[in-house]
Amino acid sequence: MSDEGKSILLYSAGLDSFPAWHYLGKPPAVYFDIRHHFREAELECVRELAERYGIDLTVSTALDLSAWDTRPLIPFRNIYFAMLASNYEADTIWCVGVRGDHTLDKSPDAFARMSEVLSEFAGRPIKVDSPFWDMTKTDIVRWYVEAGLPVRDLLDTLSCFEPSGRRVHCGRCSSCLRRWIALANNQITGEFAANPWEWERVQSYYLRAMRDGTYPEHRAEEFFAALKTVGAPT
Ligand SMILES: [Zn+2]
Repeated sequence: MSDEGKSILLYSAGLDSFPAWHYLGKPPAVYFDIRHHFREAELECVRELAERYGIDLTVSTALDLSAWDTRPLIPFRNIYFAMLASNYEADTIWCVGVRGDHTLDKSPDAFARMSEVLSEFAGRPIKVDSPFWDMTKTDIVRWYVEAGLPVRDLLDTLSCFEPSGRRVHCGRCSSCLRRWIALANNQITGEFAANPWEWERVQSYYLRAMRDGTYPEHRAEEFFAALKTVGAPT
């Protein structure tokens, strides 16, 4: 899976980027510590899994974006990441987006535009890409499990916007909800401080939005399939 030239993976020890590191043939990785509000919990996971797996990891403190931390996420952070990553002389910058991602700074089109601008400014070809544009989070977890990789370590990843303490997933944020869906559809029980399917937003927003086309069809199918696994009302 690794690119022919040098590549670097933007790594955050999440449910996507940890499998991506395996999927891509264990490339060098970089974590940008931009001082966002859950950096301590994230950094702990990043360091722990890197140590456990011997990930060739750089933790960069080049940029402090704490002033722009409009929760849950820092706007356009992937553009900052791609710009910083271009300093590592890689031809390919792997930034993990999944099938159906369409935020302003994370989509195939956004990455194509970043590639164009970075290549022009660096004076050499640079490609920003994701290995998972054709896979949903559920697909990624399935790939990971079928590759025989340990589920225990997958559960040691972090995907929560408001984690408390050591890797405690809140179960009350969109990141937790997506994590739960991907795990539940692979018959894996994740740990959450509160059951994600009982989050108030599921009833007040997601049930309707998943039906009315706000989200791509495959996202909706996986959402309802996960709800079924716990007998939640749909
Ligand atoms: Zn959460």
